[in-house]
Amino acid sequence: MDNSLLEVKNLKKYFPIERGFLRHGTGMVRAVDGIDLSLVPGETLGLVGESGCGKSTAARCILRLLPLTTGEVYFEGREIFGLPRTQMRKLRRAMQIIFQDPYSSLNPRQTVESIISEPIKVHRIAKGKARQDKVIELLTMVGLSSSHLKRYPHEFSGGQRQRIGIARALAGSPKLIVCDEPVSSLDVSIAAQIINLLQELKGRLRLAYLFISHDLRMIEYISDRVAVMYLGKIVEQARAEDLYRRPGHPYTQSLLDAVPKNDPRERGHRKKLLGGDVPNPVNPPPGCHFHPRCAHVMPVCKSEEPALKEIAPDHFLACHLQKLEAI
Ligand code: SF4
Repeated sequence: MDNSLLEVKNLKKYFPIERGFLRHGTGMVRAVDGIDLSLVPGETLGLVGESGCGKSTAARCILRLLPLTTGEVYFEGREIFGLPRTQMRKLRRAMQIIFQDPYSSLNPRQTVESIISEPIKVHRIAKGKARQDKVIELLTMVGLSSSHLKRYPHEFSGGQRQRIGIARALAGSPKLIVCDEPVSSLDVSIAAQIINLLQELKGRLRLAYLFISHDLRMIEYISDRVAVMYLGKIVEQARAEDLYRRPGHPYTQSLLDAVPKNDPRERGHRKKLLGGDVPNPVNPPPGCHFHPRCAHVMPVCKSEEPALKEIAPDHFLACHLQKLEAI
């Protein structure tokens, strides 16, 4: 994509397993096993899957917070793993992250002013009075005010703490924000307020989000496109409305079947509920990694790994069935 903000090619992240005094390598955890992703400015890509499927590890690699095993990550056309540290530091302004736990991601000994000032200082955006004005502007943007400047994180509710985390992420005027399960520790009504705030900021500041969640409802609401991850791989990727209307992968179908329905007429129509756990990524099943849990498994699935193919415009699927199911 020529106008890509972010392009990820064949990203792999394996963690070695070492045992004993001499730390002999005894295997590899294939946390992320060859994924491709892209994002254009102002777009939200939802990354969904059960916990342990590699979503957060992929996000940390994309931000260069973890080294890659192999692969390439381009931000505005520049491959970030080849950049010297000084250039990477400049680029960090444009690539930010909002963490799952707003409490542990804020230093309890720093005031709100000091927390939000930090990136403004590091990136030399403003000094003195101008810096404080910038902090107040950011607080106002996220629904807080100058009266919160001198307070500490423990004086805030979970939702307010997440607002502080968002203000800090916005301090460098980023173009991309990775939202790593940003509302999973919040009550439903507070979570909805934070999601609405993120949507409003996206429109106002033309932000792109890589939004990670295991909550399919939320992903549907916030995403333009959705990628479904299973055991370190993307198994389906499509525009959100297409993926939710015509899911192709049995794993996606099972995840959607497990979402509680609002319409009482649909509640009795649960089918193909997902059984079993995500297999061990140290020793994934041969062929299609999903085959031990798949209701449609065929002999070929146990020996041949299906490639991710475009089976309809902008709809990619890694399954030997190669068909979409309207629901
Ligand atoms: Fe199921 Fe086979 Fe498709 Fe894998 S490739 S999801 S086992 S039908």
